[in-house]
Amino acid sequence: MSETTNAFQIAQAQFDGVAAQLGLEPHVREILRWPRREFKFQIPVRMDDGSQQVFFGYRVQHNDSRGPTKGGIRFHASETMDTVRALAMWMTWKCAVAEIPLGGGKGGVAVDSATLTIREKEHLCRGWVAAIHKNLGPRIDVPAPDVGTTAQMMGWMMDEYSKLAGEYTPGVITGKPVGGGGSLGRREATGYGVIYTVREAMKHLKMDSKKASASVQGFGNVAQYASRGFTEQLGGKVVCVSYWDRNEKAALSVVSPKGLDIAFLQSVTDEYGSILKDKAIEAGYKIEHGDAWLEQDVDVLIPAALESQLTGQTVQKISDKVKLVAEGANGPTTPEADEHFKKNNIFVIPDFLCNAGGVTVSYFEGVQNDMNYYWALDEVLQRLDTKMTAAFEHVLEVAEREKAYMRDAAYMVAIGSVVEAMELRGWL
Ligand code: NAD
Repeated sequence: MSETTNAFQIAQAQFDGVAAQLGLEPHVREILRWPRREFKFQIPVRMDDGSQQVFFGYRVQHNDSRGPTKGGIRFHASETMDTVRALAMWMTWKCAVAEIPLGGGKGGVAVDSATLTIREKEHLCRGWVAAIHKNLGPRIDVPAPDVGTTAQMMGWMMDEYSKLAGEYTPGVITGKPVGGGGSLGRREATGYGVIYTVREAMKHLKMDSKKASASVQGFGNVAQYASRGFTEQLGGKVVCVSYWDRNEKAALSVVSPKGLDIAFLQSVTDEYGSILKDKAIEAGYKIEHGDAWLEQDVDVLIPAALESQLTGQTVQKISDKVKLVAEGANGPTTPEADEHFKKNNIFVIPDFLCNAGGVTVSYFEGVQNDMNYYWALDEVLQRLDTKMTAAFEHVLEVAEREKAYMRDAAYMVAIGSVVEAMELRGWL
């Protein structure tokens, strides 16, 4: 049978494997392998040229036993219900493993947001909220940004919801701009959270982070702050980052064996919306094509772009030097690739543990919105580090005790916590 890259089938297969090991009863498995609610809706938008275009929006609420559902909204051309379902399910496990009192949800629109003008983006964001607002709310379901969506978009969405609700409701959405109800540190949260878990994994593996090198897939929000954290906090070097080049319509990798200047690449991205190939070449970096990011001779791989990137096929290209894979992205690894990692003793920090920093600071943002009192950046990052370190230690302890693969151990922790909440609420 050929390898599946359907994210929902992968999410279900991962769950099924651990559910069998845990001996979960069939009705419990049935509840957890499907979302509790899912919505697909039309969003008509008047475009700048006067034409009317109809977009499809999605929202999936996977499980709300531990609290209101929580999860990003992705604007991506190949968004499907199955991708959103998978991401919603992983959010349930993510909140549980990070011990945040929230459930799992996710949303999206099938659109390449880079093709929209600012006005069109605003109308699409407001239309998304208008279509689903009765099923959103600080005590129901709280969206956030994800691939293709930004803090500004969250600001528009919060405003639209507040208008419809008839009162200022900042807690309906997180990842808002600072000054518009957002939290300091949300921008850095996911990438830095990745690095806090990498730091702990390196201690466990007895790796010297100052001598370590990393290659990163992507150069968006997660990849940028993971790369900065890897160099600035751990003292390692990032020799490769990759990005989607709109002109070439291809993934390009920017490579420098001596280490990349991440602040420089970030300034180019801030100015032009993406790394520019010419600017990278001018800076003396090499440009490589295809899967180059995963072929580098490095100690650490950080996939931080999209799902199903490390497959049974692509892992064959990974260097023997790689000891650690830190999953910044959601669902970057297929079950076949997991088998390769297990066989080759490559330590994996699974996605819903590794990238839980974003939802953790989103939760802090909701707490600050409720209090109407805002913390300083240091306080946010310190609390984030404490939560991420505790979550990593808990999963590692279960992995060692049960002699389990890290992903399976993370599932054991998360499923245990969700099943306990369902039992306590009398659902089972
Ligand atoms: P983003 O939109 O900011 O960045 C995505 C990056 O991926 C861009 O640099 C883009 O050029 C690059 N990219 C796209 N296709 C590519 C390809 N084929 N090859 C190489 N690069 C490619 O997105 P983000 O917020 O950084 O999210 C990245 C991943 O992390 C996603 O899986 C997302 O679900 C996950 N995640 C994000 C957050 C968050 O807080 N932003 C939290 C948890 C998980």
